[in-house]
Amino acid sequence: MPLLARMLAAPLVIDVRPGAIAGLRGLLADGRIAPHGRVAIVVGPGQGDEIAAELADSQGGGQGGGQGGGELFVVADGSYDCAVELGTRLRAAASFEAVAAIGGGRTIDVTKLAAHMAGLPMVSVATSLAHDGIASPVSTLTHESGTGSYGVVPPVAVVVDLDRVRRAPGALATAGVGDVVSNLSAVADWELSAADTGEPVDGLAVAMARAGAHAVLHQPGPAHTDEFLTVLAEALVLSGMAMAVAGSSRPSSGGDHEIMHAINQLYPGTASHGELAGVGALFCAHLREDGEQFAAVSSCLARYGLPRLPADLGLTTEQFVEAVCLAPATRPGRYTILERLAMSRAEVAKRVEEYERAVAG
Ligand SMILES: [Zn+2]
Repeated sequence: MPLLARMLAAPLVIDVRPGAIAGLRGLLADGRIAPHGRVAIVVGPGQGDEIAAELADSQGGGQGGGQGGGELFVVADGSYDCAVELGTRLRAAASFEAVAAIGGGRTIDVTKLAAHMAGLPMVSVATSLAHDGIASPVSTLTHESGTGSYGVVPPVAVVVDLDRVRRAPGALATAGVGDVVSNLSAVADWELSAADTGEPVDGLAVAMARAGAHAVLHQPGPAHTDEFLTVLAEALVLSGMAMAVAGSSRPSSGGDHEIMHAINQLYPGTASHGELAGVGALFCAHLREDGEQFAAVSSCLARYGLPRLPADLGLTTEQFVEAVCLAPATRPGRYTILERLAMSRAEVAKRVEEYERAVAG
């Protein structure tokens, strides 16, 4: 009998709630993830003691060396080199059955590639909602000449601790709003490509990516409520799943992300992934002359204090123009509104000026 549905690699567990880290010990004891409980725990710089104490508390006090029975690894930054070094150490240890990353986007991205290298299932424990990497099959890492995206096995479980997210530094806690709403731009680019180049569109991936974006656009609650953070976390999970379904970043990365890659290349350290994705998406909505999407994304970014203008990113108009000109070259083969318009530098400058006036209202 033929198989009449596609099979998806999806996380075994999604756990989004306040205090979720306290339940991590139970999750790591799940025999499907680590049959004998041998789990490496990876944290970012400066977080080791606090996380170790929290895990120890969660199991009734200090057993297993105070680290929930797992060995603790600290990663210094979000670089490719750091991921390779961690992967080598995890592989050399040979005794681990799984690896859990506890932290923000950088720690999770480094661990995803390291776990992939070592052939270990990876548990993603997010303490901020800065981008859609928490559940995606993509690891974004810095290297000598900017940032690169690497395909990896997606996390086997995703945990989001809403208490931790609330305590994360303001710009990072909810910058993922920009990444989620950029799905609308990415999907519009995909559909544009279908019309212009005949590229096939995956309807299931589109449904997941777009539903997540709409959920965030239409949940206008304050950023620190459980209700809003839950919708945002779930939308980021759906974005990651959409990429896994599509087998590429297409449903969540269009001209918006090309502009981000260009900004990262030209002006490293300008802003976070989510912040840049939001600006890129808003600018692309302007290029598409999609007034409805422009208004919805603009008011959403403003509501959560995210950048909309080049100046909000600390860039001059000229610098932003430069980035838009470079953007198509950052992702050869991906057809978006930028490739469709194929603008000259003068045209880009004109559209950026129009855009700045439109955002200023
Ligand atoms: Zn993204």
